[in-house]
Amino acid sequence: MWARASSLDRHMQCPAASYLPRDEDGAWVPGYLQDINKFTAPNIECIEDNIWAEWGTEMHLAKENHKLASPLFLAKVDSHRERLWPSKLGRHEIPVAYNCRTGNVFEGPAHDNSWKRLRGPDDITGTADWIGRLPNGEIWVDDLKTGHNTPAPDTVQLLFYGLCFYKLSELPKLPTKTIRLSATHWRRDWDEPRRFWTQIQWKQLAEFEEQLRVAWLEVRSSSEAKSGLHCSYCPSVNICPAVNGIPDLTSEIKVEQL
Ligand code: SF4
Repeated sequence: MWARASSLDRHMQCPAASYLPRDEDGAWVPGYLQDINKFTAPNIECIEDNIWAEWGTEMHLAKENHKLASPLFLAKVDSHRERLWPSKLGRHEIPVAYNCRTGNVFEGPAHDNSWKRLRGPDDITGTADWIGRLPNGEIWVDDLKTGHNTPAPDTVQLLFYGLCFYKLSELPKLPTKTIRLSATHWRRDWDEPRRFWTQIQWKQLAEFEEQLRVAWLEVRSSSEAKSGLHCSYCPSVNICPAVNGIPDLTSEIKVEQL
């Protein structure tokens, strides 16, 4: 797959983020685009403490009342779930894939991560936390954020899901059509969350789709590493030449050997 929706901003800004091998839970795996086959040997010096990520995962399970959700987290979320995510208005955790070559969008089976892994190298994949339809007919996409920073409701990730579900819907593409995006912020020290809303026109999604296509074309034609704020949490950072200097060519190895 070309990228994951949750890290889409990084992939749009840095072609190397789609090529470089990445560290996943301490194991190095080849980059999403595997047709470039030589990189420097990874230097695994530290494995990030992922306690914060685990807390987010537990909150997402509790949000949808998943059978594997922990009773501790269910106790926190149960009394808020129907108010925040009314069951008559939408569905939780929906996998989607967007093909950058064709612009086609596909919805996958619920809770099937293997479906996302099997998508081709031109696909962006992700799982929308919540996709609904408001009583006025607007598509509504919500994203649950559990970190410290206040989230914005118009991130690249939410625009991506808005684009996908807009294209999957049968709404006519009229200039007056709007979509609602919301970010639900629930920090671990809060009893209940805050929610931030925005409304966007379908035209903004059309412009965003064009940006995606331009970024994808650049990724296909370049492997240049472009560092910046988007390097935060990049799983390739420990071997990235833009961050660690020009690689020593004598130590290059094949991706298959990683
Ligand atoms: S660390 Fe930064 S420059 Fe390097 S691959 Fe990741 S996003 Fe690109």
